[in-house]
Amino acid sequence: MTQKAKAGTQSVWAGEKDYLVHGATQVPVVLSVAYGYDDMDEWYDVAIGKKKGHIYGRNTNPTVQAFEDKVKILEGAEAATSFSTGMAAISNTLSTFLVPGDRIVSIKDTYGGTNKIFTEFLPRQQIEVVLCETGNHEQIEEEVGKGCSILYLETPTNPTVKITDIERMAKAGREAGALVVVDNTFGTPINQNPLALGADLVIHSATKFLGGHADALGGVVCGSAELVEKIYHFREINGATMDPMAAYLMLRGMKTLKLRVRQQSENALALARFLETQELVEGVYYPGLETHPNHDIAKKQMRGFGGMLSFAVKGGVETVRDLLPKLQYANRAANLGAVETTVGPARTTSHVECTPEERAAMGIPEGLIRISCGIEDIEDIIADFEQAFQHVESGLKV
Ligand SMILES: *Cc1c(COP(=O)(O)O)cnc(C)c1O
Repeated sequence: MTQKAKAGTQSVWAGEKDYLVHGATQVPVVLSVAYGYDDMDEWYDVAIGKKKGHIYGRNTNPTVQAFEDKVKILEGAEAATSFSTGMAAISNTLSTFLVPGDRIVSIKDTYGGTNKIFTEFLPRQQIEVVLCETGNHEQIEEEVGKGCSILYLETPTNPTVKITDIERMAKAGREAGALVVVDNTFGTPINQNPLALGADLVIHSATKFLGGHADALGGVVCGSAELVEKIYHFREINGATMDPMAAYLMLRGMKTLKLRVRQQSENALALARFLETQELVEGVYYPGLETHPNHDIAKKQMRGFGGMLSFAVKGGVETVRDLLPKLQYANRAANLGAVETTVGPARTTSHVECTPEERAAMGIPEGLIRISCGIEDIEDIIADFEQAFQHVESGLKV
């Protein structure tokens, strides 16, 4: 049933049946750290992986596995393994496959933490990192063509929502014998499935849209059983395991994944169109706008344009300082993907790890505001922004 059902149905039902006990309709939170065996032979068989079962919580846990199964089915993957955070998913995946002397090709606009791995941690392990201009497909193809072990992509990007053609890049990666990895945190499995477009591995910060309620940290990677087994082995030893309580909150949050993402995508488009009409706004970044440079690619590979957008204000940081505190229906916070609308300057949130010069090089103005749209009624959100703009504009006139 789960393979053929559509994403909204899978969000609700997929991956849970095998983990239900005592007739319960909901997956239990199994907090036990270890699993006991009276039969020494059975214990041994489970320990060496010959028989299904659990041994120790750092390796596997039933609640965590139910979460992995649900994401795996939503991404159309053979296997999935999970992590304590999204950054753990990214760093463990890279560490599983990269060895000194390797070369990795990526883009300049990856998530701030990912960018730090590329610029700070990988080079000191003698791994060559090539960061291409995001959206410059010819440059990526050229660099991948020179040979690399991983092509690492993120689309849409954080915070300026740039789009990369996954199908085209996956083809280039395959021809070069590289593993193609895509961070699909902004896309979500509701709007985009990178594996179906030719990627080898898809990563999520589950902290964001999958969980959806900003109350649990987690990460997950999906792909072929062969690749995921290797990543799982690295993680079970290195220990960045997802907590069972977090897995339960993810499972619960994911029941409404499609409803939330659909509403967030609708709200983002309406808010982007409103922002475009505002005097104080210098630029609006949203892949759903016809004016977005890669709107056509977004239309081709996404089913919805997502809940993330950003805009630049006239007057830079000063305007940001005046504007954001005036919003009634927005958390001013670093997270995204939650049911509440969340706003923040890129310089404080996604790219706080970077210097102003690094941000400028990445095309991120200091007055850039990132918005993660919530599920509120959009009329209220637009009215809220309207009064905040009016406040700032009247202040300027005085
Ligand atoms: C937040 C985020 C991450 C990191 O996830 P954490 O759960 O915070 O570790 C990675 N990629 C993207 C696109 C993100 O937004």
